[in-house]
Amino acid sequence: MNTSTAGRVVLITGGNRGIGLACARSFADLGDRVAVTYRAEPVEGFTSVQCDVSSSDDVDTAFREVEERLGKVEVLVANAGVTKDGLVLRMSDDDFTSVVDTNLTGSFLCAQRAIAMMKAQRPHGGRIINNGSISAHTPRPSSAPYTATKHAITGLTKSIALDGRPFGITCGQIDIGNAETSMTTRMVEGVLQADGTLRAEPRMDVRDVARAVSYMASLPSDANVLFMTVMAAGMPFVGRG
Ligand code: NDP
Repeated sequence: MNTSTAGRVVLITGGNRGIGLACARSFADLGDRVAVTYRAEPVEGFTSVQCDVSSSDDVDTAFREVEERLGKVEVLVANAGVTKDGLVLRMSDDDFTSVVDTNLTGSFLCAQRAIAMMKAQRPHGGRIINNGSISAHTPRPSSAPYTATKHAITGLTKSIALDGRPFGITCGQIDIGNAETSMTTRMVEGVLQADGTLRAEPRMDVRDVARAVSYMASLPSDANVLFMTVMAAGMPFVGRG
């Protein structure tokens, strides 16, 4: 594995917009060789590979393509994610499963391929950063699939950190709260609170999330940020509910 903090091969899932794109720009600014996944439109300025992370075949193809074009993946940012609101009682099977397929199964599939690649390099090693959420700690109302999958990401992060240990593979998780992306547009108008009211919530610059992820990835291979929480300072997390 390349041990310098620049020039590494970094793969970011869901790197075509939002947090993923901000991370891609931040890694590229540091001199890393960055690949991003997209589903519809390739991303100008980056090595782009088409991939629906819930598809095992797509994930295989994406990792193969990145290896051919840039080399073995040394840092994976498992960022792709979706949310689907609804009360538990009214949530359809398909809606629940679709969130699990992307947020949890997708993160697992990408981590599995990354670990295989990181284990095969000489010297072996690498870093995986999973995108969790404040919802990995505390739910918003009507968010069962999102909250359940983000809690599960915490277990996945710990398992990868443990199973990767013999091969010099580290794994950490960033738990973000209210970064300015399309996922949080509704925060501006007002978002459902636990007491049934709608309240606008502050958001944070997505570039500050990218700086936090870049910091996690900048550590030497013998150090790991297992969990980091970065959130809009005034959001109702401490005290939520
Ligand atoms: P966006 O909706 O802006 O971006 C989501 C990204 O995930 C898009 O690139 C999207 O691609 C991609 N994606 C979704 N489903 C799939 C799939 N099946 N296969 C491949 N790519 C997929 O949201 P954010 O940037 O805000 O979210 C990114 C991550 O950050 C998510 O995991 C989210 O849960 C997490 N997060 C965000 C927070 C925030 O405050 N913004 C807070 C906590 C966590 P496409 O363009 O094709 O839809």
